[in-house]
Amino acid sequence: MSATLKERDSFILYNDKSEKGLACNQTSVSGAVSQRACVYCGARVVLNPVADAVHIVHGPIGCASYTWDIRGSLSSGSELYRNSYSTDLGERDIIFGGEDKLKAAIDEAVKTLNPSVIFVYATCVVGIIGDDIGGICRAAEKQYGIRVIPVSSSGFAGTKTSGYKAACDAIMELMGEPEPECERDPLTFNYMGDFNLAGELWILKNYFDEIGIDVIATITGDGRCDDLMRAKGAAHNIIQCAGSMHYLASRMEDRYSIPYTQVSFFGLDDTTESLEEIARLTGSDTVMERVQRLVARKKAEVEPILDRYRARLAGKTAAIYVGGGFKAISLIKQFNSLGIKTVMVGTQTGRPSEYETIKFLSDMGTVILDDANPSELKHFITEKGADILVGGVKERPLAFKLGVAFIDHNHERKHPLAGFEGAVNFAKEVDLTVNSPVWGMAREGF
Ligand code: SF4
Repeated sequence: MSATLKERDSFILYNDKSEKGLACNQTSVSGAVSQRACVYCGARVVLNPVADAVHIVHGPIGCASYTWDIRGSLSSGSELYRNSYSTDLGERDIIFGGEDKLKAAIDEAVKTLNPSVIFVYATCVVGIIGDDIGGICRAAEKQYGIRVIPVSSSGFAGTKTSGYKAACDAIMELMGEPEPECERDPLTFNYMGDFNLAGELWILKNYFDEIGIDVIATITGDGRCDDLMRAKGAAHNIIQCAGSMHYLASRMEDRYSIPYTQVSFFGLDDTTESLEEIARLTGSDTVMERVQRLVARKKAEVEPILDRYRARLAGKTAAIYVGGGFKAISLIKQFNSLGIKTVMVGTQTGRPSEYETIKFLSDMGTVILDDANPSELKHFITEKGADILVGGVKERPLAFKLGVAFIDHNHERKHPLAGFEGAVNFAKEVDLTVNSPVWGMAREGF
């Protein structure tokens, strides 16, 4: 039996450096068992790190299992976001409607938690029965004088990317109307698409402080409602995770005239280039000098450590399967810098331009795939003989069953992998796993 469905052929290619493109950014092939999560989950990933908001999931209790506990986003203050509130719809509500339960949930949240902002997520069931979430949220805003914002995230209504957009639309709703045009301070930035996994946002904030950048809002890692409402006054938007934030950044450019720039803080080269790009955006020679001093100091600290890992990792091969294309690109570069060749690379939500870059960066014969499933991942990891798989919680069991080393680069991870410090953590984790004797034993059945 073939490892791939015929309908999936256009989503998979062996890199031949030709012009041939990869199909992507489409709904999953029915029956192919995509690794993607649903629309609602996409919205939750993006919005849930807003730490001082109440997040109410309007749907059956199972949907609420996508919560802080399976996401490693950290907060420096409010812990409100760590609670999962659900309207717990049951059979009776599906027949007679769940609006009363939603009203009661909002009333209770206001009375017991005193929030300034409540996000209400739509789920599959609510999309089917047609509860008027928007009307209920508007009525609650009038009654309580707070922001109650619906998130149009019915699980079946598109792909996980549609969920990112639904969350971004909710953030735009919170940001509100443009202010009368005023002079913007060129040192003010919003930092978007970092979810403060394992606290890595705080590493970067140290850099921003040192070079003199004023971060108005972090969107959405360690996020605060007030900061989101002030974000429209920033001079620049910089984006780490393009998959989730490109849409928001382009809407903010249209509505508030804030230009945006893609950055990446994964790996020494990307971190250096991104800091230099930020300095260029400010137009300040002083900021550029600070960046150069910071980079020189950090590189002097971490390069000797990385050299030790390079000696232990040279010649290994890697397979990558992650959410967004930009992260995959950074990972290929990071593996290259460690002497590791990428033999398979795929993403859940990569865009055509990102796949072009992946083709450019990876070697002839590298397997590139969009919206893969476990059967395909198993087939290509085995065929290409990868020593390590980098992915998320859904890919981890596959690696363990195949007896292949694994490194978590998703929202559950516990070690920061961004910035200069993160580059060392990454090399250390790769070394620990790929050079562990356990994989040989696992493959031989102990
Ligand atoms: S929104 Fe739909 S697909 Fe998503 S978790 Fe709930 S029931 Fe499942």
